[in-house]
Amino acid sequence: MSYNPYNDVLTAIENAAKILGYNENDYANIKFPERELKVTFPVRMDDGSVNIFEGYRVQHSSSRGPCKGGIRYHKDVDIDEVKALAAWMTFKCAVVGIPYGGAKGAIKVDPSKLSKAELERLTRRFTAMILPIIGPERDIPAPDVNTNGEVMGWIMDTYSMMKGYAVPGVVTGKPIDIGGSVGRVEATGRGVMINAREFLKKRGETLVGKTCAVQGLGNVGGVAAYLLEQEGAKIVAVSNSSGALYNPTGLDIKDIFNHLASKSKSLQDYDGLGVKHISNDDLLTLEVDILAPCGLQNQITADNAGKINAKLIVEGANGPTTAEADKILARNGILLSPDILANAGGVIVSYFEWVQNIQELTWDEQNVNGELNRIMTQAIDAVYAMAQEKKITFRAAAYCIALSRLVKAKHIRGIFP
Ligand code: GLU
Repeated sequence: MSYNPYNDVLTAIENAAKILGYNENDYANIKFPERELKVTFPVRMDDGSVNIFEGYRVQHSSSRGPCKGGIRYHKDVDIDEVKALAAWMTFKCAVVGIPYGGAKGAIKVDPSKLSKAELERLTRRFTAMILPIIGPERDIPAPDVNTNGEVMGWIMDTYSMMKGYAVPGVVTGKPIDIGGSVGRVEATGRGVMINAREFLKKRGETLVGKTCAVQGLGNVGGVAAYLLEQEGAKIVAVSNSSGALYNPTGLDIKDIFNHLASKSKSLQDYDGLGVKHISNDDLLTLEVDILAPCGLQNQITADNAGKINAKLIVEGANGPTTAEADKILARNGILLSPDILANAGGVIVSYFEWVQNIQELTWDEQNVNGELNRIMTQAIDAVYAMAQEKKITFRAAAYCIALSRLVKAKHIRGIFP
């Protein structure tokens, strides 16, 4: 049977509901997305031909506030993946206590095959197709896998043109010149570093000298590797879709970034003293203090979970560990900061960006990073305390906190009509 991430969402919800002693009636609505939109639309390619693309926007929950979540461009994306990603956003916003529900969008496309002009037309047409259900009070997209500030700028412009005035609050993760926030690009990676630092602190340890393996060197993994190193950790392995590097005495992260920014763009051609080329699978099973999967979902599975040798896993990606693998890791005593907590730094600073937009004011970097640190540390402390109290994993504790907030919000609001 093929992997369906939405089943893992349901498993996590059922598990939390059982721990909290809920009746089916208390939380039944949370098992279903509120709204699923599938769109099919044409895009004119540079050679004059027309290609048809499929896209999605799923709004999982608006119980605690407007729906919030990124848009990804990926050739393998499907509706179940987007449903799962939307639900994870609901739980993510709830566990860190920001006033949003969850959503996610995607286009089934390999963006590396498109020119910049094609990518812009694709983005603008997709925005027009989902326009009736997005908006600053309704549903606020943001960057995700293979999308960035430039794409958010096109979305903001398309939406604004339709309205007839500038609406910066319709998306977050925008370039700073059009209402983006300082610190947003680094926020998810910074949150990963904070999670590693705080969970070590609970054991009376620090990041200094800790060995780390980081899977994925994009916006999340790249920043996480950089900041972990800045805090004194030793990055011994990194990978992306082009390959994986390992050096037990530590990699030169800056040199690797320079290499990736150069003409090659492939880790496969990277050469450094003592650097070995390994596979992405090898990276996951290295003996390290911290493993940060920061790429895609479905990486730590029942097949490799038993071979994981990390002491602490910090999930920078959404859904990198399957529900089956999760049980194996827990049985083996491997600590894990779950995705809905570990990668929430991005949406926390998205929230700050949106607040700045609707209040028409700007925060400085110290304020943004200070507030991110405060909200994230508070959420980590609450998850840790709940896990200790109930003798459950951090993932189960994070879901319990989030689910109880969702159930409470639904209860207070009641059922319409
Ligand atoms: N795509 C990011 C995530 O999965 C950020 C979402 C947002 O900022 O709305 O958390």
